[in-house]
Amino acid sequence: MKNSEAILTTPGTMKIFPSAVPEPKDDEVLIEVEYVGICGSDVHGFQFGPFIPPKDPNTKIGLGHEFGGRVVSVGSEVTDFKPGDRVCAEPGVPDGTCHYCLEGRYNICPDVDFMATQPNYKGALTHYIAHPANFVYHLPENMDTMEGALVEPASVGMHAALVGGARLGKRIVILGSGCIGLMTLQACKSLGASEIVVVDVMGQAPEDGQAARCHGDRQRQGGGHGRTLPRRSSAARAPTSSSRRPAPRSRPCRPSRSSTAAARS
Ligand SMILES: [Zn+2]
Repeated sequence: MKNSEAILTTPGTMKIFPSAVPEPKDDEVLIEVEYVGICGSDVHGFQFGPFIPPKDPNTKIGLGHEFGGRVVSVGSEVTDFKPGDRVCAEPGVPDGTCHYCLEGRYNICPDVDFMATQPNYKGALTHYIAHPANFVYHLPENMDTMEGALVEPASVGMHAALVGGARLGKRIVILGSGCIGLMTLQACKSLGASEIVVVDVMGQAPEDGQAARCHGDRQRQGGGHGRTLPRRSSAARAPTSSSRRPAPRSRPCRPSRSSTAAARS
């Protein structure tokens, strides 16, 4: 097997280098990556470099943390997976020892080892990746590996919907219509929210007095799209002329991911 990986050499430039096929540790599975989502944090990292730069300037910086693929081999302690299994993975591997982890809230572990960031900057834009089996998941029969790459942002959207109290009959406003906003929309619909409006500003600030455009979705109207809020809506106030500037870029933290697109690796 040959491997290669896309490495961020300088902000704005990625190069593909040959690399060794990782050897899975005893508790890891080796996955052949088939699809990788491009997260808003990947775009930000590509444009400006890692949000937290590596201490060692020679560290190879990979990008990509939303992926689906097939198991190639497994470590000696792994019993849940076998070669050929279609899988997706959780990109954050927590320490498993802090009080957050022990409470089951490992998603906020302060020592999480999250892909494409510190400490190892391991990116999914590669052909073969080794990952702890405890953070790898089987895909159901009716889900392909491209959809598997979207499970991670979908889970972020579902978490946001649950934390936000989305349930039957609720009226919801979602701020931001990037990938995470749209995943949150789907999650709110699946939880039974009766009226959902997604609000966003366009990449270019609107003219004075022009309301920000939004994408609306009302289930009782059969899921219409492209609804625009009335001018001067308090729910989507347009920037004033003194603050004309591009819409803020998403920052590389998990709740603000946007613009995920599945791309063949
Ligand atoms: Zn922890």
